[in-house]
Amino acid sequence: MEPSPWPAVSERPDGSLELEAREGVTESVIRALAQGASPAEAHDGRGVPPPFSVRALAPLPAVPPGERAIAVDQTNHSVIAGETVVVKWFPRPSRAPHPAPGLLAHLAGFPRTATPYAAIFWEDALVALVTAYLPGAQDGWEWCVDEAVAGRTAFAAEIGRLAAELHVAMATPSEIFPDPVRLPPRPDSATRPDFATRAEEALREALTLHDADRPNDPDRPDGQEWLNDAEWLRLHADHLRWELAPLASAGTSPLIRIHGDLHVGQILRWREGYAVVDFDGNPTVTDAEAFQPAARDLAQLTTSVEHVGQVAIKRRSVNPAAMVAWVAAARAGVETAYADALAEAGREELLDRSLLRPFEVEQECRELIYAARHLPRWRYAPMGVLRSWFA
Ligand code: ADP
Ligand code: MG
Repeated sequence: MEPSPWPAVSERPDGSLELEAREGVTESVIRALAQGASPAEAHDGRGVPPPFSVRALAPLPAVPPGERAIAVDQTNHSVIAGETVVVKWFPRPSRAPHPAPGLLAHLAGFPRTATPYAAIFWEDALVALVTAYLPGAQDGWEWCVDEAVAGRTAFAAEIGRLAAELHVAMATPSEIFPDPVRLPPRPDSATRPDFATRAEEALREALTLHDADRPNDPDRPDGQEWLNDAEWLRLHADHLRWELAPLASAGTSPLIRIHGDLHVGQILRWREGYAVVDFDGNPTVTDAEAFQPAARDLAQLTTSVEHVGQVAIKRRSVNPAAMVAWVAAARAGVETAYADALAEAGREELLDRSLLRPFEVEQECRELIYAARHLPRWRYAPMGVLRSWFA
C-alpha cells in the first residue's frame, strides 16, 4: 500500500490524540493545499482527505519542492517546505478549542508576524498551522543572549514597540473579534476573573515544590555563605505574597486577547527585522483566561529579558555585575518603548502599570513550577532573577 501523504493521527483509549508527520508528509500536504487556487477552494476541501479539514487564512504562495525540519529546541514539530512556508505539526493535538486560528485570523494584515496561511484540523482538533518562513530567523534565546553578551540594548526599543503594536492590533475590532476590548466585570460579578487567587496559588505551588532542601547551585564558589533556593524562597515568601497584592484590586484594567506566551523565544530576528510568532498560549497555565490585561504579556516579556541576563551569566560567563546594569537598561528600554508606542496609537488605557510587578512575580513562580516539574536545570534562571530583585 502507498504510504498516506497525510500525517497519521491515532486516538488512544483515554481519548487523547497522537500525530506523526513522517518525512515527505509536509511537502505533500502543502501540495494538496496549493491545489485549490484560492483559499476558498482550499476551504472546499479539494485534495484534503476527511476527517482532515483546512481553514484558509490567506492564499498560499507558490512553494518549491523540498522540506527540512527546524532544528532548534521546540515543543512542536516545525518543518520548512520549499524554503517558503513553515508547517508546525502538533504531535499531541487537542480537541479543546485552540486560540491560534482565531487570533491569526483576527491579526490578518498585522505585518510583524509570519504571515499565517492556513490551519489544518483532524476532526475538531487543530493539527497544524501553516505560516510564512522567515529567512535567517533566530529566536531570542539566541539573538538576545548575544546582545546581552555584547552589552547592547538597542533591541529593547524594537521589541517593546513590537509588543505594543501587537496589543493595539489585538485591541482593534475585526470581523473575527468585533468587540476585542472588554471592560472588567464589576467587582461583585461571578464572571470576574480572579487574577489574585491564581497568582497566589502559583506562589504556593512554587513554594511547595521547592520545600525540600536541595543542593546549592554547584556553580557557586565554595565557602561562600549562600542560602539554598528552598531557604531563600521560605524567607521571602511573605514579601512575594505582598508583591501580588495589587492583583486583588485589578478591577480597572481593560481586558484584551493577549499573546499569552510572550517571551523572547517567541520573538524572531530575521532578515527584515523582528517578528512575533507562536500564538498557542502558555503551556504552563491550564485554563488561562482568553481575555487578560495587556500587562500580562508585557510582564512575561520583561521577565524573559531578565532570564536572558541569567543565561548570559551561566552559559556565557558574563560578569554578573555587568548583567545587572544590562538587565536594568534593557527592561527599561522595553517598557518605555512599549508605553510610547501605545501613546502614539492613542491606546494608553491598555496598560495598567500597577499590574506589571505582580504579574512578573507570578511569572517567576510559574517558571519555578515548570522547572520543578519538567526542566530542573532551568531553576537557576527564575531563582537568579528573584534573588536579583531582593539583592
Ligand atoms: P513551538 O511551539 O515549538 O515553540 P514556535 O512557533 O515557537 O514553536 O517555533 C519554534 C522555533 O522555530 C522558533 O523559535 C524559530 O526558531 C523557528 N520558527 C518558527 N516559526 C518560524 C518562521 N515563520 N520562520 C522561521 N523560523 C521559524
Ligand atoms: Mg515557541
